[in-house]
Formats: sequence, structure tokens, C-alpha cells
Amino acid sequence: MQASKNIALVAHDNMKRDLVEWVEYNYHTLLRHRLVCTGTTGRLIDAAVRQKAGEELPEGFEIQRLKSGPLGGDQQLGALIAEGGIDLVIFFWDPMSPHPHDVDVKALLRIAVLYNIPMACNRSTADFMISSSIFDKAYEPVKKDFADYIAREPI
Ligand code: PGA
Repeated sequence: MQASKNIALVAHDNMKRDLVEWVEYNYHTLLRHRLVCTGTTGRLIDAAVRQKAGEELPEGFEIQRLKSGPLGGDQQLGALIAEGGIDLVIFFWDPMSPHPHDVDVKALLRIAVLYNIPMACNRSTADFMISSSIFDKAYEPVKKDFADYIAREPI
């Protein structure tokens, strides 16, 4: 992955305030990367970044906004991961509430692990991630070779 990364940001409703605060604190670093969000998270983060950055906002700054999570946004993000379009995921999921799209959430967590995508699911992990010396550098994660799996004889 390049020094400038494709970073996915998602938060469940009870966790959105946490994520917005985290983004406000880290907007300066985040502006060096491309941001992809599910619908509602994206709307809130876009407003927060614009307000914090003011004049510093790079020309043409735009967050790629997918559908809202319950309407398929998590699945869209999973597809982007499978296609190699996401380098990092910050996903503040809510451990205290059931969601209509719990299966999509599980699928997103699974696909991120499968493709060895760095993923922070709470604020401390996100802090460690963004303070990492390789956050702003090119990095080649180990990619598993699935050739054997594809070539197997299932029947
Ligand atoms: P939202 O979706 O950003 O549209 O709220 C997030 C989710 O619920 O997975």
C-alpha cells in the first residue's frame, strides 16, 4: 500500500460521537489520505473535518460515501476490501446493541481479517494505529496466496 492510503471509517450510532471526536483530534493526519465511509458516518465526518480544517482543507477534498450500513454500506465496504481498494479500516462497532444488519457487520469483520487489513475496532487501537511510524509510509502487508483454495477439487 502507498504512503497515502484508502482509509475506511465506520461507526455504529452509539459510537459515532467517539469516532467524530477521534477524527477531530486526528484530522490533520487524516487529510493526507483518502477517506471512505458508510453513509451517516460519512456525513458526520465530512462536517467535522470541514469545520476543523477550515482554510487548510485541501482543494477537492471529498469523502467517498457508501450507502448507510443497514442499507448495504457494510457490504459495499466488504466488496471494496475484496477488490483491494481499502488499506485500513477504523470500525467502531457497538458491543452493547443488536443491529438489523448484524450479519453484514460480521461479514465485514471477516473479510477484513481474511485480507489482512489493519482494523481498529475501538479508540485505543485507532490511537495506536494512527501513531504508528508506518501510518504515513508505504507498507506491504503479507498477502495470503489463495491459489490452492481456488484450484481445489471440491467434488
Ligand atoms: P452508517 O452505517 O454510517 O450509515 O450509520 C454504519 C453501520 O451501521 O454499519
